[in-house]
Amino acid sequence: MSRDDLINQLRAIVGEKYLLLEKEDVIVYEQDGSILQAMPEIVVLPGNAGEVAEVVKAAKRAGAPIVPRGSGTGLAGGAVPAEGGIVLSLARLNRILEIDLKNRLAVVEPGVINLDVSKAIAQDGFFYAPDPSSQAACSIGGNVANNSGGPHTLAYGVTTNHVLGVEVVLDDGRVVWLGGRVADSPGYDLCGVFVGSEGTMGIVTKAAVRLMRTRESVRTLLAVFDRTEAATKTVVDVTAAGIIPAALEMMDRLTISAVAQAVPGVYPRDAEAVLLVEVEGLTETTERAIRLVQTICERSGAREVRIAANQAERQLLWKGRKEAFGAMGLLAPNYYVQDGVVPRSRLPEIMKQVAEIGERYRLRIANVFHAGDGNLHPNILFDMRAPGELDRVIEAGAAILKACVDAGGSITGEHGIGLEKKAYIGLLFNEYDLEAMARVRRVFDPEGRFNPAKLFPTPVSCGEVRRQPQTIPAGLWI
Ligand SMILES: Cc1cc2nc3c(=O)[nH]c(=O)nc-3n(C[C@H](O)[C@H](O)[C@H](O)COP(=O)(O)OP(=O)(O)OC[C@H]3O[C@@H](n4cnc5c(N)ncnc54)[C@H](O)[C@@H]3O)c2cc1C
Repeated sequence: MSRDDLINQLRAIVGEKYLLLEKEDVIVYEQDGSILQAMPEIVVLPGNAGEVAEVVKAAKRAGAPIVPRGSGTGLAGGAVPAEGGIVLSLARLNRILEIDLKNRLAVVEPGVINLDVSKAIAQDGFFYAPDPSSQAACSIGGNVANNSGGPHTLAYGVTTNHVLGVEVVLDDGRVVWLGGRVADSPGYDLCGVFVGSEGTMGIVTKAAVRLMRTRESVRTLLAVFDRTEAATKTVVDVTAAGIIPAALEMMDRLTISAVAQAVPGVYPRDAEAVLLVEVEGLTETTERAIRLVQTICERSGAREVRIAANQAERQLLWKGRKEAFGAMGLLAPNYYVQDGVVPRSRLPEIMKQVAEIGERYRLRIANVFHAGDGNLHPNILFDMRAPGELDRVIEAGAAILKACVDAGGSITGEHGIGLEKKAYIGLLFNEYDLEAMARVRRVFDPEGRFNPAKLFPTPVSCGEVRRQPQTIPAGLWI
């Protein structure tokens, strides 16, 4: 089929208004939250699952790749159309279709914004647990594809723990449900396989998600440290004491300096590190737990421990954390966020290594991360206009990921592999592992047209994948 025929068919499916072809229109879709970009050829914005299925069928007839896109907040280049083709935006599929509080579930379209699910049920005393820091912007479809987590992952788990079933469009346009409305469907857990598949297996057009009861009591504490190591050791001590906080977040000196400008008066400017710890549950339990956390922090050398006295104080403490990524712009024109994971007992040593890597590559690194999960987010600060700086940034990022793997961890905690990290997947998996995964993918997408060039190194061979520069063409980095 010619390009013109494909365009005519897409126009007939979605209408003129929702088919974008001009450079000034499609350029908006060339990038996500990462530092990778590639220009789409065609952008379509279908309005319902039926139109998604018809677009997929037309793409199949034309042999065109399809890159699903939610809100474009991904940090691994997942929605970047590395091989051109069609970017299929799910933004118009943005309805909450059903709220079933008796069965504690909601059925939503993929373009629904994460926070809007919790907002819709807050007055009934329920919430949707996965809470990426981007939750005011990111979509449920993107969350499902990336198996996203957030500050409260420590207590509640990631997206896969909260998705009962998904309706997906397969490569031939068939619309099927994987999983359903109840937990533990018989047979293989295909919903579990699909969640986290990063748009490489099909397109989510509906999701049935679990809803949780709002906790009776929430207590939040800020602990201020003069030494980073004392803060990281406290993280280990809190969980070793048998407490699983709802959230346990850490920010370092550089991040605090940015947040102090963006949200003045929340965190002390001269602190080396702060921990934000939240416990949830029954009033008696949370009271006991927060006092125990306070004691552990003080014993580990916190110079100040502040327990939020009311909801306003709690929200202020969180405001600092939630605006931390935005505040990076006060430190440098650009930042490249990494997403390594280590067993939390290795946090003290990995933080030292991150600092050493910064020195080695002459780059400033600001850390704000889900410390309780051992999920680091080193933000490498740079100026892309400075010649050669981006190369050092990429090398420093690779060194951090390697250090995480050497410490028994992984190359991503929540942002996914996408385009950016496929070069490093060989640090974790050998060629047999990768081939097994590729075969699972082919069951869903035999021609490999959903989100090509993502997740898997090209070619799928271990020797190749260790050499990063060969796998991401230079032109894709900004
Ligand atoms: C400031 C900031 C903070 C962040 N904090 C967190 C955090 O705390 N935790 C976390 O996990 N992530 C975080 N992220 C990353 C990002 O928000 C998540 O990965 C999010 O789930 C992406 O959702 P999205 O709708 O923007 O997806 P996109 O970026 O549009 O797409 C992400 C991937 O999902 C695929 N996809 C999108 N929709 C569909 C669909 N309907 N069907 C199939 N595939 C689809 C895309 O092809 C792509 O591979 C953060 C990002 C930013 C910018």
